[in-house]
Amino acid sequence: MSWGLAVLQHALRQPGCPLCRLQREAEARYLENLLWENVNDPATREQWAAGLGFCARHAWQLQRLEARRYGDGLGNAILYEDLLQRVIPVLEAMAREPAMDPLPLHRRLAHVLRLPRSGDPEGIPGLQGRARCRVCRLGEETARAYAEWLVEGLGDAEVRARYAASDGLCLPHLRMTLICARTRAPQALADLAGDAVRRLQRLLGALREYIRKHDWNYRHEPMSPEERRSWIRVVAFFVGEGEGDGSLDDRGG
Ligand SMILES: [Zn+2]
Ligand SMILES: [Zn+2]
Repeated sequence: MSWGLAVLQHALRQPGCPLCRLQREAEARYLENLLWENVNDPATREQWAAGLGFCARHAWQLQRLEARRYGDGLGNAILYEDLLQRVIPVLEAMAREPAMDPLPLHRRLAHVLRLPRSGDPEGIPGLQGRARCRVCRLGEETARAYAEWLVEGLGDAEVRARYAASDGLCLPHLRMTLICARTRAPQALADLAGDAVRRLQRLLGALREYIRKHDWNYRHEPMSPEERRSWIRVVAFFVGEGEGDGSLDDRGG
């Protein structure tokens, strides 16, 4: 069995959407490597600057990681020192020439600061990233690679059985995998869609029981662990597994 499929098979045995798990793992590895040895790597720094840092989720993840792992903040401090040096001159120029259209201003500053040439016309160039968060992009690329593995693997009875026994894919990753399957694996597409229907009908049933048992008349009826967690699982289905809410780690009832 190929390496990619073996990793995927392992993730299918764990709780929650397997692609969410593999994506999170890739993101966490990137952040760990960043702190461990890449804070001063020029290519890494260029990507950091291009995104004007990371998105809020990954920025705080990096902050927590360094605090927890090293009890220190030197890596974060170095990275943000870089960003401050880019942002401050833009604001200084705006303070000097407030009436100035930020676009020509930006063009002039771009020469000095190597800022992006174009940007969101609604935004202020130099005060926002010209690229999306690097960690988000890397995570999505990883998930897409495993989505391809899954489409390929579904031709195999063992992988199909493993998938059926897993928690299945969240909607964002189901969409990603269906798109992979659409052009070249119609059977995998049909299997994934049929499997999703069965799972969602079951989830809907549990959710309806959860709602019904909130009614005063039925409050005495005990809830199953599945019903009790249904309102959390449905959030995980629509947006992917959460972080810090234990949805990937704690599946207790
Ligand atoms: Zn997912
Ligand atoms: Zn991000």
